[in-house]
Amino acid sequence: MGEIKNLDLIIKGALIVDGDGEIYEGKDVKISGNKIIEVKEQIPDKGEEVIYRPNCVLTPGLVNLHCHSPMGLMRGLGEDLKIEDWFNQFIWRFETKLNPEDVKVGAFLGISEMLKNGVTTFADHYFFAEQIAEAAEESGIRADIAPTIFGFGEKVDENIEEAAELIDSWNKKGGRITMQMGPHAPYTCPPEVLEKVSREAEKLGAGVHIHVSETEDQVKESLEQYGKTPFFILKDTGLLQHRIIIGHGLWIKEEELPLIPEHAYFAACPKTYMKLAMGYGNLWKYFDKLNICMGTDGAASSNTLSPLEQARLFALIGKQMHGAESFSLKEIWRALMRGHEALGGKSGLIKPGFMADLVIWDLGTPSSWPVYNPLASLLYSADSSHVRDVIVDGEFVLKEKILTGIEEEEILKAVRETVAKIDRRAEGERFAQY
Ligand SMILES: [Zn+2]
Repeated sequence: MGEIKNLDLIIKGALIVDGDGEIYEGKDVKISGNKIIEVKEQIPDKGEEVIYRPNCVLTPGLVNLHCHSPMGLMRGLGEDLKIEDWFNQFIWRFETKLNPEDVKVGAFLGISEMLKNGVTTFADHYFFAEQIAEAAEESGIRADIAPTIFGFGEKVDENIEEAAELIDSWNKKGGRITMQMGPHAPYTCPPEVLEKVSREAEKLGAGVHIHVSETEDQVKESLEQYGKTPFFILKDTGLLQHRIIIGHGLWIKEEELPLIPEHAYFAACPKTYMKLAMGYGNLWKYFDKLNICMGTDGAASSNTLSPLEQARLFALIGKQMHGAESFSLKEIWRALMRGHEALGGKSGLIKPGFMADLVIWDLGTPSSWPVYNPLASLLYSADSSHVRDVIVDGEFVLKEKILTGIEEEEILKAVRETVAKIDRRAEGERFAQY
């Protein structure tokens, strides 16, 4: 007998915290195929799988709107360094030694971590994107992947064409994996390269995912080199016409705000900004004027791939700067959930017709009980240890804290072997620092 997929399922006994921050008690949720089909009191079961989840909260899945999933292979490398030293002495040196097989192992590591953190969709930006897509497909997670394009060197045109072919082939499949154009950043891609990328995105009907104004220096250097700031470059090269994910945009300037279209979504990654001392920037100041969502960046800079942790840090920094009454639970929860909107799928709400991308959080634990305010419990107490089940596209990808599509022990072993191989490629120059 073949594998039976997408069994009808009824979830009973959990409190619902929806993507808009509304809270519902006493309702069951029925899933059929990959969709939610009913949300009401006491749905009778007619042979479907029924799970009871008392003391639990059911929410839409989390979206990680900006990451580099394979960078988990570099977790903890080059700590306590300035951003330039961190990058030049460790990250770049390590990345030049990676091959497609290593990247796939790194992607599996990142995906495993994300699933256990309640992430149902991630937007990735990295090289060897095909291997990341394969890992995502095998693991059961939903992903939107941007093959990274650097704008210098002889092979730029070739790289753009290869990326376009890859994007087209995955988007045509129409499955859980989608792809976007991924120019690295305006400081690593000259305007003519960004224009070409924009034309390709237009032809493919694809979106764009790009790093912008990550540091204050990048904004200054852009002014010196091109006489304009990075978002003006994005506008003039056509990139802002497309559905676009902005990695960071931390140092967006006031005069750039009118350029930003409604279909632009910003992925804030505050843990990286704090660790690499990139300054407070302006995302908090313009929180009401921009579509701010949560990303994690790579685990090389943020050490974890938890959008929930990033949302918590975002709220705490905001409160420290603007007062305890600012950045309310509901506002932060909506920012955490806004990634669904950014990716344009029908997910992010627990309503009939929406995709069954869901997380069940067990809050009946010493670190999260009692639950007076479920949003506070989630945003300020919960972590991956509270994630009990994760459903993507109507299927369990984590059930009772066990990954269903990934053999965790095998991935950890593969990571150990990969790291050892990379050390050998570094010709005795061992990366470990103990
Ligand atoms: Zn990034």
